[in-house]
Amino acid sequence: MSVVAVIGAQWGDEGKGHIVDVLAERARLVVRYGGGNNAGHTVVNRRGTFKLHTVPSGIFDPSTVNVIGNGVVIDPAVLVRELDELQARGVSVDGLFISERAHVVMPYHVLQDQRDEAQRGDARIGTTGRGIGPAYADKMARTGIRVGDLLDEAGLRDRLTTVLALKRWLSDDDSTAAALDPVTIAARYAAYGVRLAQHITDSYPIVQQALERGAPILLEGAQGALLDIDHGTYPYVTSSAPGTAGAAQGSGIAPTAIDTVLGVFKAYATRVGAGPFPTEVDGDAAAVLRQIGTPWAEVGTTTGRLRRVGWFDAVLARYAVRLNGIDTFALTKLDVLDTLAEIPVCVGYRLDGAPVMHPPMRAGELARIEPVYEVMPGWQQPTTAIRHIGALPAAAQAYLGRIGDLIGARPALVSVGPAHDQIIELLPLLPATAG
Ligand code: GDP
Repeated sequence: MSVVAVIGAQWGDEGKGHIVDVLAERARLVVRYGGGNNAGHTVVNRRGTFKLHTVPSGIFDPSTVNVIGNGVVIDPAVLVRELDELQARGVSVDGLFISERAHVVMPYHVLQDQRDEAQRGDARIGTTGRGIGPAYADKMARTGIRVGDLLDEAGLRDRLTTVLALKRWLSDDDSTAAALDPVTIAARYAAYGVRLAQHITDSYPIVQQALERGAPILLEGAQGALLDIDHGTYPYVTSSAPGTAGAAQGSGIAPTAIDTVLGVFKAYATRVGAGPFPTEVDGDAAAVLRQIGTPWAEVGTTTGRLRRVGWFDAVLARYAVRLNGIDTFALTKLDVLDTLAEIPVCVGYRLDGAPVMHPPMRAGELARIEPVYEVMPGWQQPTTAIRHIGALPAAAQAYLGRIGDLIGARPALVSVGPAHDQIIELLPLLPATAG
């Protein structure tokens, strides 16, 4: 079991940072495979609390090689800031490599993203306005700029001249015209290239040599499976494939080389931005789930936006399990449910009065779904100090077991607090003996 893909299996923000940070200690290579700096991880470890946006979570272990894979889109301004912050806090970034094939988020992508979202009005998707969608769109339209291009200013200027000629429609006044000047942009982005040069490389040999050695490898996702461009709640989705297929494509590791897919689920559900959310709640239940006032409050790491909250949706979870080949799962934030007397779990759907076996992915239909709940008894005692499954209250064990049965995957990890050691391990993933 030496290649483990860790994927968010809901709408993102499942607490992947915590899980990856724990597993990264056992990996020799961590590859971030997709998304951009619209995603954020919070990692709490013995060095403190860190918010990572682009850098893989294995960065805290000096013996781990970290790769930002080809599937990621990178805003170099944000990445440089992130590296500066890590270094200022004593974290070495020497073991960080950036695939030269990864695409760059350019200033005109940010401009386009914000303008598109403003023009959508009530139909807005809820993007973070950081240019991620337009950067992926340019990648697919073959008009993208890749990280390797930043290393050659003259070549970058030529490429930008061609690309920006196609984007004149974006410039309608003097300020936007300046944002679209190839010479200015090339100079600025080549300077980022100089700053990042020691990290930029062809990641293919790094990844392939680690595979050949049988080294423990962790593939780290961003966002969640339900935001997948194909299988998510389109158009309220992200512009990449955050699941297992994206893990293979975005890292350069063949699908058949992935041994285990660990789906990370929160013990309840949250969603940022617009789009259907069948088990959404408000009122008192929402206040419990949101945990406002705590460091783990349901407020976006990257955006600062209040998250929508709801009960665990086993119909959507099973959908994510099947589409992504999730065989094991981590359940995070179990402690958030500690005070509840009753915990509803969505076990089925009805649409226009009739039962539905799997989620309809047309946004309009999913929005009309009536969830069918099974109400499980709460445990009403703290779980935060528990480190062994047998010590969990019987009702909490029953909750975990029921979720495993409903989604069709085996529980591997349960987290009961944000701290590095607030983890219950049921299955050894990436055993320390590997590699
Ligand atoms: P990610 O992007 O999937 O890592 O999710 P977030 O960045 O939104 O992280 C979730 C938040 O919850 C962070 O503040 C974590 O420190 C915190 N957290 C992670 N696991 C747990 C847990 O088991 N219990 C509690 N209370 N907080 C947690």
